[in-house]
Amino acid sequence: MRFVAVAVPVPQLDALTYGVPEGWPLPLPGARVRVPIGSRVVTGCVVGAATAPAGDVEARDVREVLDDTPFLPPAVVELCAWVADYYMAGLGDAIGVALPPGAKARASSYKTRKLVSLTAHGLAALEDSLSGPRSAQADRAGLTAKQRAAVQALGGSTGLSLKELRERGVTAAVLSRLAAGQFIASRDAPDERDPFARAALVTVDYDASRPATPEQAAACDALVALAGAGGFKVALLHGVTGSGKTEVYLRVARAVRDAGRQALLLVPEIALTPSMSALVRGAFGERVAIQHSSLSDGERHDQWQRIRRGEVDIVVGTRSAVFAPLERLGLVIVDEEHDTSYKQEEAPRYHGRDVAIVRAQKEGALVVLGSATPSMESYQHAQSGKYVKVALTKRVLDRPLAEVRVVDMREEYAAEGPDVVISRALAAAIEERLTRREQVLVLLNRRGYATAVFCRQCGDTFECPNCSISLTVHTARNGWRARCHYCNYSVTVPKACRKCAAPYLEHAGFGTEKVEQQIAALFPSARVGRVDRDAVRKRGALTAILSRFGAGELDVLVGTQMIAKGHDFPRVTLVGVVSADVGLGLADFRAGERTFQLLTQVAGRAGRGERAGEAIVQTLYPAHYSVRLACRQDYAAFFERELEYRQGLRYPPFVALVNAVVRGRTFEEAMRLAQDLASALNGHASAGGFVVLGPAPAPLTRLRGEHRVQIFLKGGRREKMRQALRAALAAMPEARRRVVVDVDPLSVL
Ligand code: ADP
Ligand code: ZN
Repeated sequence: MRFVAVAVPVPQLDALTYGVPEGWPLPLPGARVRVPIGSRVVTGCVVGAATAPAGDVEARDVREVLDDTPFLPPAVVELCAWVADYYMAGLGDAIGVALPPGAKARASSYKTRKLVSLTAHGLAALEDSLSGPRSAQADRAGLTAKQRAAVQALGGSTGLSLKELRERGVTAAVLSRLAAGQFIASRDAPDERDPFARAALVTVDYDASRPATPEQAAACDALVALAGAGGFKVALLHGVTGSGKTEVYLRVARAVRDAGRQALLLVPEIALTPSMSALVRGAFGERVAIQHSSLSDGERHDQWQRIRRGEVDIVVGTRSAVFAPLERLGLVIVDEEHDTSYKQEEAPRYHGRDVAIVRAQKEGALVVLGSATPSMESYQHAQSGKYVKVALTKRVLDRPLAEVRVVDMREEYAAEGPDVVISRALAAAIEERLTRREQVLVLLNRRGYATAVFCRQCGDTFECPNCSISLTVHTARNGWRARCHYCNYSVTVPKACRKCAAPYLEHAGFGTEKVEQQIAALFPSARVGRVDRDAVRKRGALTAILSRFGAGELDVLVGTQMIAKGHDFPRVTLVGVVSADVGLGLADFRAGERTFQLLTQVAGRAGRGERAGEAIVQTLYPAHYSVRLACRQDYAAFFERELEYRQGLRYPPFVALVNAVVRGRTFEEAMRLAQDLASALNGHASAGGFVVLGPAPAPLTRLRGEHRVQIFLKGGRREKMRQALRAALAAMPEARRRVVVDVDPLSVL
């Protein structure tokens, strides 16, 4: 009996062993199979051959083999196995990320269309008609004039659809005659939706002859040489905002294409993808595929199939595109490598950048990590020589970086009262831009209208019933709505207090909706738009608003961090940051790094065209090093200062972290389980060279109705920490479902 290991779509499960019936060929790694599990039959993916299960466990048989060639390239299957192991996720979870939508269905549920093409017999008739005298060939093949016209229409193509044939005047009767005579045959071909065809996803002309700046040229030479060497390498492209990193990516990717290999360009978020993919499309023509979550399932499926068939030279996509089924990968570019959206916050909790590096290592490819504000981890590797450092220190065409002015909001409150949202300095600067017909970006990294509602008489506040967080107030069609940003619970804000019935409900704090409203009130003639998760919920809304702003149909764009990165709007000469300190209060050792990155990135949106730019940063902590150094746009000084702090408190990149959140129906239940887990882990700590911190209530002690307690492992070697966790969890099977493990966590709420 022969056996295969199969990853099944069941959370947290390792591969299962199945028997292969006598006489069947052994399914290859990457092939999909139908296998029984419990009373169901599911579609799984073969990860390799297996040995007979130990003991007297009997393996069940594979029911059906769906692919006789690998559906997933074996290298991608291997990558998923690495992800499952490193991030302590189930193999099925990891494989699930690599599969296109619909792949788990038994047969593809996607539309196909009939393509008609000539058979060998039809081709011979066509050749006759082209060489021999007209009348003679018609007689030989016995074709009528209409049939001959149809054969000729089909001659130069690999297949035409019925619709295309109809447009050429070929009738159904003619086709059925030709089919009966075996001149033509029809087959099913995937009916591909081209996401570029949607209006918003346009192609941007790419001028390949535009000369690179000397710095760009030097960077390209260095990177092309590394790519040409053919082996695995990681380069950090540290380029200030507006230094033209995209141009470098495109040039290196073209060099890799010319050498016969493929490129993968990862971008952090949908917000960046439309413009980036349009530009790549301009530079590479048809041989581009895009992969990101705002495509429909059908579009994603089509794009995936094109990649699988080897029809593209470059793939542009978000996080999960790191699993794209490319087979000749030579280059992986991770744009804005510091961006936190590369980390998936559900199983498998992988980091797209780190998986990209592992993939490149397995496939002998070059990785280019690009950023104006590299992550502490990546910059430290560049400093130590583990990564090759390539720098772009100047903006293109000698454009200066934006001047940054700091407004101390404590002084502003003292002068203007506690309700100020837009300072006098910022208001004056916006007015100036409006009269000059220039554009303004206003950042506040907090959505909604107000951050809380409370009763002025009894002090009652609106908390989420499921989470330990106060509800955010949003403007609604008739009045106010309070919503939880974690579980989406929402309730209409009443006119009077629920507790004491007093009509004194007040808002506290403010978010993007209020900023938008205030700017509209201050400047009634200004055209103001807003970009945040609420404003762009509908598909296409984001690209629509960005393209309106790009076309000059809006004067001011208010938004969250979605407006901070990537976009290139040459007419923006002012960036206002309403509250620079939003992230600084969080119980997160990365808060300083995040704040520095956000401020630097958003200031970098100003002055990217011919006119110089300015940024105005409102803050309560003008002396905080993240704020101060971001205003000076001094990355090197920030890095040194932050590194000192991380070293002092033993945080990454000096140690590795693993986070385990234990969930329970009550706090006591979660705590008891966490204590058991912690003491089991402590038994491995000294041998494993790590420490166990906690258990302690998580910052969000309640989330979606569950109580949460967390434990941190901190140590030099992840493998030791993983081993300890595996051993501890194996001994408490009832706890397994209640524990969420996060290796290299980014968000520790
Ligand atoms: P970054 O990503 O480094 O912030 P971009 O790649 O967005 O910068 O480039 C900034 C701007 O400079 C874009 O408008 C781009 O078209 C322009 N640009 C890039 N390279 C050149 C060049 N060699 N000559 C002229 N303009 C350039
Ligand atoms: Zn909630």
